[in-house]
Amino acid sequence: MPGPVACNPGSGVDQEGNGVTTVDFYRPSSWAEALAIKAELPAAVPIAGGTDVMVELNFDRRRPAALLDLTRVPELAGWSRRDGVVRIGAAVSYARIVAELAELVPGLAKASRTVGSPQIRNRGTVGGNLGSASPAGDAHPPLLAADAVVEVASVRGARRIPVADFFTGVKRSALAPDELVAAVELAVAAGPQEFAKVGTRNAMVIAVCSVALALDPPRRAVGTGIGSAAPTPRRAAEAERFLAGELAARGLWESRAELDPALPARFGELVAAAAAPIDDVRGSAAYRRHALAVLGRRALGWAWQDYRRGA
Ligand SMILES: Cc1cc2nc3c(=O)[nH]c(=O)nc-3n(C[C@H](O)[C@H](O)[C@H](O)COP(=O)(O)OP(=O)(O)OC[C@H]3O[C@@H](n4cnc5c(N)ncnc54)[C@H](O)[C@@H]3O)c2cc1C
Repeated sequence: MPGPVACNPGSGVDQEGNGVTTVDFYRPSSWAEALAIKAELPAAVPIAGGTDVMVELNFDRRRPAALLDLTRVPELAGWSRRDGVVRIGAAVSYARIVAELAELVPGLAKASRTVGSPQIRNRGTVGGNLGSASPAGDAHPPLLAADAVVEVASVRGARRIPVADFFTGVKRSALAPDELVAAVELAVAAGPQEFAKVGTRNAMVIAVCSVALALDPPRRAVGTGIGSAAPTPRRAAEAERFLAGELAARGLWESRAELDPALPARFGELVAAAAAPIDDVRGSAAYRRHALAVLGRRALGWAWQDYRRGA
């Protein structure tokens, strides 16, 4: 395993005699090297954009013995498109998703546009959002709605995890200690995709709650994802079944006719019913349920208008 590129001298005291915490800093230049370091030092904390990790270090919530910088790993830094599937490397920033992928994966691009500020979008990555596995992570609802797959890897090999199985609890994921997120894969959008988020202000805000919707006309399918509304991001499965069933039964996929307002309203109610929200500093459970119903209804209204226009 290559050694750290930087580390504190390890004496345990600074020039004034105060105790210091030593942090070894590993900077692999290839994926194989990164996985080898993670295998050797499972407690090493990966750092991509650092927009979550540095906050934790600055507030002294975490004192890792080692940081594993992923910004020099070329295999994580790009995206590609093949056979109708977009593969986004874990270290691709939100800014690039907005600039380069808005046509191919519009739901994820719309969510990326709402993240933080330009500075945060320049540094922050989808791999980091998955690594943090926060119920409020904005990339998660559109990944759920699009049925994305998370590719993780270790020296033992690679695994493909459906994103719905990736989140296992509040800020917990299916990643094993020696694994890293390599990429996320999702189909090129076959129809309109929306993302709607409520925050306490318009920018630099963690979601009070959020909803993503993906319409897939060729498959006559509906995908959803809700954020900040349960211990993990989750799909609203009953809302998906209801909407897909109604669109099929009423011949709406074919006719593209105006929706009876009762349909988006019921869809919104079912989106809210899928949530298990809590009261916290950002909002009450009751407000979240109300807002989810409104966001679900609106997201369907916007997506359907796009579909009627031929999107
Ligand atoms: C001011 C501010 C505003 C923010 N606004 C938003 C917002 O609106 N919406 C939102 O969702 N988030 C927001 N965030 C949180 C943060 O920007 C996102 O979670 C972002 O996606 C983190 O990406 P990163 O590359 O910076 O991750 P990092 O901070 O580098 O890492 C985050 C976590 O993922 C792990 N990790 C990173 N890469 C990998 C990998 N390849 N494999 C395994 N684990 C990995 C790290 O060890 C760490 O636990 C905000 C943060 C700040 C500071």
